[in-house]
Amino acid sequence: MRFSLLLVAIPIILIACKKDQANTSALVTGLSCSGGSFSAQATAGMAYSATATLPYSGGNGQSFPVGTALASTGVSGLTATLQAGTLTSGTGNSMYSVTGTPQSAGTASFAISFGGQSCTLSLVVNPAGGMQVPSVYSKIYGATSITFDGTFVTIKTNDQPDHKSAYYPTTHALYEAFSGATFSGVNFVINPNRIATQSMTFKIPANPTMASTHAATPLGPIGIAINGVPFFNQYAGPNQPLTNEITSFDQYWGHPQQTGMYHYHVEPKYLTTIKASKSALMGFLLDGFPVYGPWEENNSVATGLDVYHGHTHVTLDYPGGIYHYHFSDASPYLNGNGYWGTPGTVGQ
Ligand SMILES: [Zn+2]
Ligand SMILES: [Zn+2]
Repeated sequence: MRFSLLLVAIPIILIACKKDQANTSALVTGLSCSGGSFSAQATAGMAYSATATLPYSGGNGQSFPVGTALASTGVSGLTATLQAGTLTSGTGNSMYSVTGTPQSAGTASFAISFGGQSCTLSLVVNPAGGMQVPSVYSKIYGATSITFDGTFVTIKTNDQPDHKSAYYPTTHALYEAFSGATFSGVNFVINPNRIATQSMTFKIPANPTMASTHAATPLGPIGIAINGVPFFNQYAGPNQPLTNEITSFDQYWGHPQQTGMYHYHVEPKYLTTIKASKSALMGFLLDGFPVYGPWEENNSVATGLDVYHGHTHVTLDYPGGIYHYHFSDASPYLNGNGYWGTPGTVGQ
């Protein structure tokens, strides 16, 4: 009996080995649909064309061909097609071309299967007939939706940073261990919190004006970065300087608080060094005034900032000139004695 089993097993093993050698396929160990992003916002009934970027981990360096078109479910009318490419050995991004005309508002879902892993990628389709969102807000690529009622721009986010972090769970495709020097050269010490998906809604005035009385910024979210991560002010607690918190800033200078809400108090290093630049638009405070990196567009460090940590001049995004905040290396890092304008609201 044992002898005959062995005779059957040997040819099967030989066939399996031969197959592996002839067809080495692209494999990943992790795929993050929640860390995915789309290059454009979708509106019901309007032709859509965008690129979706999906982070993976544990790539095996193999190449892969164009995929077949995956039809959306939930909201129909869209397809997502994997673009041909070559995996990096380790973490990287896979790209999908997403096209079509979404048939209704809601969530279009794509059942992604890539490199032996699968997950569901979701795209929020905004309702038709809403007013055209001011174009500068299209720079907020990490939002799950952006709508406009004529007065306020409403931005929703899940607050999932699109960069690696020591604060993602170790099973997450964007998890990366970190040690050594972080912001301002202090040694990184991880805090006990880990990144958790949030559900946040920012309502920001589209036409900001200077307030006659400048409200102080509260603890908690005071604005939103272009990748959908909230900005916090320069305090760790009531009248407590940030000094003791800086040590827990990760490789891109953010960290999560007790409920897992990831945030930036200082320059978002991923946006200033990888995704955009030191002089680029970083996001908006709740008062509707834009936030820029530490540099002006001529690559000089911003100077002449007032006590609210801003000043007024022309930028590429605002050819008519605008009051704007700048990040700085020293306190207050982002904003100073409060909001320059009248803040909108943020809800969770
Ligand atoms: Zn913090
Ligand atoms: Zn400036």
